[in-house]
Amino acid sequence: MNTSKSRSTTSALQIVSLLVILFTTCLAQAPRPEPVTDQETELGQQVYETLLAKGEIIDSSPLYQSLKPVADAITRVAQSRYPHPFKFILVHETQPNAFATPGGNVYVVDSLLHFVKNTEQLAGTLCHEVSHTIHRDGVALMEKEKRIERHEIEAAILLGPTRSHLIAIALIAKLHSLGYSREAESKADVTGSDICAAAGYNPWGLVWLFEDFQNAQVGQIPQLLSDHPANGTRIQTLKQHFQYNPSTFSRFSADPKSATPFSVPKDAPEVFLHPSSNGK
Ligand SMILES: [Zn+2]
Repeated sequence: MNTSKSRSTTSALQIVSLLVILFTTCLAQAPRPEPVTDQETELGQQVYETLLAKGEIIDSSPLYQSLKPVADAITRVAQSRYPHPFKFILVHETQPNAFATPGGNVYVVDSLLHFVKNTEQLAGTLCHEVSHTIHRDGVALMEKEKRIERHEIEAAILLGPTRSHLIAIALIAKLHSLGYSREAESKADVTGSDICAAAGYNPWGLVWLFEDFQNAQVGQIPQLLSDHPANGTRIQTLKQHFQYNPSTFSRFSADPKSATPFSVPKDAPEVFLHPSSNGK
């Protein structure tokens, strides 16, 4: 955004209009990643660059305006539990999905915004993902991965790509194939429900999402929650958590009819970010 032309003669009204345009444009744009300061941000940055190279990262879209209020409310509650800033980045993939990486980036697949029926379902999904980051689940996953596939990684290094890039590729694959244990998933559900409740979103949203999946056709089930037999257990764990903590959860209705409808414009235009336009 280059506005370096002399504006000394511009009226105050024009400046205000310009600021409004800039502000609106920024609202609808992907946040940029943090500079690398440690291993977690480095791993997160590698994943970002891999998704960027694949052309998946959506730079600007009206969808960001729908995502932003939910993401902001969750960040206000969750940020104190994690040292790096949470950033919510839209990506274009075929399956409705969301996944979080070490370093604070939470990737939200555009079609998830079309899939969810209400704000509570979206908030529940995002609270769940943020909780994986707070629990360092991605880091633990990669530590396990390193032990299992060290020889493969070492062999590949000889062929050229850097180790961290390979680990990023492995992490992306894991995050897309239900790489976490059911225990880690349930823990993220529980912490996520605490975060959602504190952010003012009905934590039953995630339960409603699970229930919708159980009625959905297999091909339409988002990968992030497609583990059918486990969903029943996850619903039970959440319900128990709500029951044992009435001071936090009794004020929320279990009835999906109480939900806030969530809708986004169909065929919202999407501008993709490419490595050359990353400001590097
Ligand atoms: Zn999960």
